[in-house]
Amino acid sequence: QGIIHISDIRKSYYMGTQSLEVLKGLNLDIYKNEYVALMGPSGSGKSTLMNILGCLDSPTSGTYILNNQDVSKMDDAALAQVRNKEIGFVFQQFNLLPRLSAVDNVALPLVYAGIAKKQRREMAMAVLEKVGLGNRSHHKPNEMSGGQIQRVAIARALVNSPAIILADEPTGNLDSKTSVEIMDLFSAIQEAGNTVVLVTHEEDIAGYAKRVIRLRDGMVESDQTQESRKHAH
Ligand code: ADP
Ligand code: ADP
Repeated sequence: QGIIHISDIRKSYYMGTQSLEVLKGLNLDIYKNEYVALMGPSGSGKSTLMNILGCLDSPTSGTYILNNQDVSKMDDAALAQVRNKEIGFVFQQFNLLPRLSAVDNVALPLVYAGIAKKQRREMAMAVLEKVGLGNRSHHKPNEMSGGQIQRVAIARALVNSPAIILADEPTGNLDSKTSVEIMDLFSAIQEAGNTVVLVTHEEDIAGYAKRVIRLRDGMVESDQTQESRKHAH
């Protein structure tokens, strides 16, 4: 069983008397230290699945086991606790706090984890150094480039040592040269032992991942590892 184990997940949205089934019985295992790209056309259910994987939302039915915990029937408070401990998020829009320095942005998840201030700074600095920004720790977001800001956001996602890193179009706001740098960083993070799941609609970006899962109309259309993709071409 994977660090992510999904069994017959369905998700419907209800609007008045109407309902729309967006995930139609997904089965999926993602194993520790895998590097997965999630692709599929707009409306295929990628965001809905990522929200469930990230414990931001619950499935309508089916089972989701994250790192040996059944999170499918947890209430919002329990889900928030699991989310803070197990998930590191990276977004297209970066989502840093503009008034905080890089090191304070990175340390933020540790505040919620109840870690003392001195230790928070030390942990945040160590991760900033890992992403190559040890010399930018006191800069605020508006004093950094897009690529540097995304590195800070990645450091923030890593600082808690979460079970999985979820990235939603992490290069969507970056030029192609900076995108390559950020994807190289994700590769290094995965090689260091992390589990990475990212959403992208760019084949070039998906090419960095070792497994590509394609959704269509709320179902898995294909699920290929790097090896099988090579043979297919
Ligand atoms: P993708 O990320 O692949 O574009 P989404 O998961 O965002 O797909 O959306 C899948 C379908 O679910 C779309 O038809 C979308 O309009 C619908 N949808 C997504 N979120 C909601 C919501 N909160 N309420 C109602 N419908 C939604
Ligand atoms: P994406 O860029 O991933 O395709 P969308 O534009 O589909 O994102 O959706 C953005 C947000 O709006 C998501 O949080 C999604 O859940 C919500 N959403 C999408 N479609 C609907 C809808 N028909 N009704 C309500 N909320 C929706």
